[in-house]
Order: sequence, then structure tokens, then C-alpha cells
Amino acid sequence: MTSIDPLTPAGRLAGDPFTVEGADLLIGGIPVKVLAERFGTPLYVYDAGTMRRSHDRLAAALAGFAAIHYSIKANPNPAVIKVLIGQGAGVEIASLGEYRLARSAGAAPENILFAGPGKRAAELEAVIAEGIGEIHLESLEEIARIERLAAGRSAPVPVAIRFNPVAEVQGGAMRMGGRPAPFGFDEEGLDGVIDRVQSSRTFDLRGVHMFAGTQILDADILAGQWAHGLAVAGRVARRIGRPLKTIDLGGGLGIPYFAGEAALDLARLASHVPALVAAQQADPLTRDARVVVEPGRFLVGPAGLYVARVLAAKTSRGARFLVTDGGMHHHLAASGNLGQIIKRDYPVLAPARMGEAASVTAAIAGPLCTPLDMLARKAALPDLGEGDLIAVLQSGAYGLTASPVGFLGHPAPAEVLVDGGEARLVSR
Ligand SMILES: *Cc1c(COP(=O)(O)O)cnc(C)c1O
Repeated sequence: MTSIDPLTPAGRLAGDPFTVEGADLLIGGIPVKVLAERFGTPLYVYDAGTMRRSHDRLAAALAGFAAIHYSIKANPNPAVIKVLIGQGAGVEIASLGEYRLARSAGAAPENILFAGPGKRAAELEAVIAEGIGEIHLESLEEIARIERLAAGRSAPVPVAIRFNPVAEVQGGAMRMGGRPAPFGFDEEGLDGVIDRVQSSRTFDLRGVHMFAGTQILDADILAGQWAHGLAVAGRVARRIGRPLKTIDLGGGLGIPYFAGEAALDLARLASHVPALVAAQQADPLTRDARVVVEPGRFLVGPAGLYVARVLAAKTSRGARFLVTDGGMHHHLAASGNLGQIIKRDYPVLAPARMGEAASVTAAIAGPLCTPLDMLARKAALPDLGEGDLIAVLQSGAYGLTASPVGFLGHPAPAEVLVDGGEARLVSR
């Protein structure tokens, strides 16, 4: 086996979870070409080994400090959830649908955290009846809604208060802290919220939950956020007047997508852990709390590949276009239409023509009748034609379920999990 050309951005990313044999890119030891023939295109492929590695490397970096809950909105496929639960992760959900998926994947109710700015009565009622680790309170109406639903129950409802931090947290692609947000309660107004929850017999107020931003690649910034979260937790505990049981510091750990981005430095993140542990231990009201982080993207993004086949290669006024059977209806994020401010290309490869030098710069268009349907704008590739495959890397998170699958009536892609040298269809 040879490694992938390390000089291209796609090659640098592919080198970690994937290998190359002859002309073929292999995922979990199986040529992508073979998977495309067996399961048809377009398809998503997820590599269980890569997910396990991501989980275990993070767990090692945070050892002695924080437990990991997988935020399943990144990829709610039950086979994917099952892999991470198997590594010891809890889960974080944001709807009753996700609760059902987590349970069907084997998550124990007490290991499920339920966030989300708009939880309906039916959702709250179901998780309270069936069991939940914590509901993260995000509005006064939600507090009252749970009170009404839980009236007459003897067991208190386990909750934490979600807060929107004051600190403008730099470095994330979509910053959620420090500015107005529909999520949780503003940090500045927490005292009133704490008093409101404490005044009710309905709740077992266990802790706090902060989520400051997503796609953060700088370990120092993450550690800074977490230190802020611990400090706020201490203040909340003092207002409550007793120790906290949980402190949820959120997700947001980034992965590299674009040229010039480097992977989150886990060794550097680990170097912050002793100071974070010391800060937590210094306060008797936070000392015994279970600290949680809840990444989504970091755990599953690098493990996934989206594969499509070229239907036509054409030139329009001097520009090269590859039209494929896959597009934004399956992979909105790669098309740059999932909240990105600047549209930059995800790493793209020709997974069955790996040995060849990139000789063409092509736009990769999907089959939809809209100019938004572009999987890449300037992909450097061999000169591909009808029948050739393209693969979009870093596609395991915010892929299929974050895409407008119904738009234009094309079929859903297959989802395939590769594990232990075997590939199996895991589409729902
Ligand atoms: C989406 C979300 C996450 C996961 O975010 P990533 O950036 O994928 O790590 C974690 N917690 C909450 C509350 C979320 O909404």
C-alpha cells in the first residue's frame, strides 16, 4: 500500500483514515470502486474504525476531565450511533425522533441528554415517561410546560439550565456565544432562571449546559471556552446553594475541510486538561460534578465519504463541468449551502484513479436544475469522463440528514458502514 499524495489538501486528509492500493482509494480496507459497484451510486460510506479512533483519541486527551456524549444530529444513522455507544459514549439529542434513534441504537435513557430551543409538549412527555438523563431547559415557557406535564409525578424531572455565554468566543465558523441567540438563557440573566427552577418541586436541577460555537479548530480557544463554562458553573452552584452533578461544556470540536486548515491539536488540548481539572477541583461546588463534552462533527466527520458517478463531462465557454448523479440534495454542506458564508470546496478525489496527476480543474455539478447544485467549484482531478467516480471526503457529519433529500425527486443514496473488513447497507 502507498500513501496518498501528501501535497494535495485532499491527499493530506485522506492519508489518515484511508489508504491507496494501485489506482484505488480504500476505506476500511475495501476499494471505493467495489462499494460503488455493489451498492450503486450515489452512496455514503462510513468507516467504523475511523469513528472509534476519533472517539478514543479524544477520550484519551480528556482523560480525568470530561466524558463524551455523541451529538447525534451530526449523523443519526443508528449503525453510527451504535459504534460510538460501543466505545462508551453517551448521546446528546435534540428531538423525540433523535431520542427514538438513540434508543433503537441501544442508548440507555440515563445516558441521553436532551437539548433544543423548541421542545414540544409531546416530546417532553414521552422522554419523561420513558426516561431521560437530563432535559436542558431553554426557555421560561419550557420550564412551565414541563411543570404542567409532570404534575402529579412523584419523581422529579432531571434538568440542567442551558446558557448562552457572554464571552464572544472567537475561532468557530458559526459562533453562537456572546450574541443574541434563541438557544438557552443569556448568562447575564441566569440568576432569575435559577430561582424560578429552584422554586418548583418539579425539577431536579443537576447542572448547566453551555454550547459556545461549532467547527473550532484551535485547542486554546476550546480550552478557554471550557474554563469559562466551569467558572459559570461555579457561580450557578453558589446561587443554588449546593454542588452541581453535571457540567456540559458543549460540542464544537472542528475538523479540517479546506486548504490551509489543520486538524485540532489534541495534544495541545490535552495540555490544558490539568489546569481545567484544577479549576474544577478548586471549587467545592463543582468538584464532584460529571463534566461532559458533546461533539458531533469531530467524532464522525472524517469517517465518511460521499461517492458519486460522472454522468457527463462538458465544457461551457472554456470551463470544465463534471455532472454527477450525486449533489446538494444528498450533501448540502459540500455544496456550500448549509450556512457557509464563503463557499469553499470540500476535499474531492477520483477514488478509482488515484495514481494519476491532477490535470484538469473542474466544477462538479449535481443533477438538480439549480446553479446551487455544485459539489465543488475548482476540483483538481485527472481528466474524468462518463462512468468515473468522484468522492467527497470529510462527509460523515452533517451529510444526508442535513440535506434537502426531497428536492427534485431523486432517490436517496445508500448508506454503507464498513467495519472489520466487511461492508453492509445501513440505510433506513
Ligand atoms: C449541534 C450540537 C452539538 C454538536 O456540534 P458539533 O459542532 O457537531 O460538535 C452539540 N451540542 C448541541 C446542543 C448542539 O446543538
